Amino acid sequence: MIRPLRIFSWMLLSGSVASALTIELDYTYDTNGFFDQAGSKEALRAVADFFEERIHDNLLEINQNTFGSGNSWSAIFPHPGTGLEQRVAGLIVPEATIIVYVGGRPLGGPVGWGGPGGWSGSASSQAWFDRVDARGQVGELADPATDFGPWGGSVTFGSGKTWHFQLDSRPPMGASDFVSVALHELGHVLGVGTAASWDAQIDGDDLFQGTRSVESFGAAVPVDGSGGHWQDDGVCGGPLGYNPDNPLNVLSLQYASFGTAHGGAQIALMDPSSCTITSSTTLKVFTDLDLAALSDIGWNISQPVSLAKPVVAATAVTLTWPTTTGQTYTLQRRPDFDTDWGAVTLAESGDGQVMTFTDTSPPAGQAFYRLVSETPTAPAAAAFFEQFTSEPTWIFEQQTQAPRSVDGCGRPVAE
Ligand SMILES: [Zn+2]
Repeated sequence: MIRPLRIFSWMLLSGSVASALTIELDYTYDTNGFFDQAGSKEALRAVADFFEERIHDNLLEINQNTFGSGNSWSAIFPHPGTGLEQRVAGLIVPEATIIVYVGGRPLGGPVGWGGPGGWSGSASSQAWFDRVDARGQVGELADPATDFGPWGGSVTFGSGKTWHFQLDSRPPMGASDFVSVALHELGHVLGVGTAASWDAQIDGDDLFQGTRSVESFGAAVPVDGSGGHWQDDGVCGGPLGYNPDNPLNVLSLQYASFGTAHGGAQIALMDPSSCTITSSTTLKVFTDLDLAALSDIGWNISQPVSLAKPVVAATAVTLTWPTTTGQTYTLQRRPDFDTDWGAVTLAESGDGQVMTFTDTSPPAGQAFYRLVSETPTAPAAAAFFEQFTSEPTWIFEQQTQAPRSVDGCGRPVAE
């Protein structure tokens, strides 16, 4: 006998209370009009939204007008239209916000260039320098650094190339994926290859030892010689830009986004090469490993949960959901609104793949399912923090930190 079964499902995300990050995109220095191209601003906004939906950190405001007298600063970054140093005096950066100056100019080989900005400041107290430098992310001030709280930075895209601005499909031969490159460059602004807390986790053998990244990759992760990227696979070819037999591959699993399904194998996006690939129809996207790196740098990463439409058989219900390393997932069920939720699975650790559960004994008539996801405290945040026991008398004059950047993003490789 086939019994009718009505299924209801929804999701619950818990474990994160910090503010979502706002990424403010600033086109003031797009002096060559790169973002006059149709669809370009919309595509960059979609990429920024991808990070905003996942990063939850309480970055404090930078505002020299309200911090107390005697404090000032200038943001320093490469002008996206000229490549020359640009300073913005007294820039106000709202809390939980980073400002990213964007534009384009001819870059020669690379397709993109990006990194967090530097700064120069004068202060009447160390607290102002600490605010500009770390924005309350105290782990950034520790030695070794375990966190990252930038004001923002700049990203430059190579002009004079054919760019493909669509959000969910591969470009034609010879064109560059804007979404893939923008995800990669904002990854640098967010500290991959650029933050002190990234550098601090690379050992003498050029292996990244961040807890989540090791969990995701299954081993310490090789980085390229300069430490700015995952190890370069060196060649392009085959679906999703890799030769499966290449031992240099840093492979991970795609996070469902921009039309790309969850859990497919891909060279991690923070690899330095960009490829023109003809045999795949989907975009290269951020992978489980790339997201794990953001977590290891110190960002509080909390992935949205999603539960696919259940498959209902006569007496069984199959549910699937995409997972991420660093989050746990518990499926709960109840027969009606008057009954408390009961767990039908243990809290399972995500691993970047799609998780499946078949309920072979659902209650008769109807069932309600709920997926609960929790993000344990980011491992980096619990680590070192050095505290001064006696406060020296400071004389503050000037501190400067140069913008940080990464060379060789998307350097041309054999196609
Ligand atoms: Zn890069």
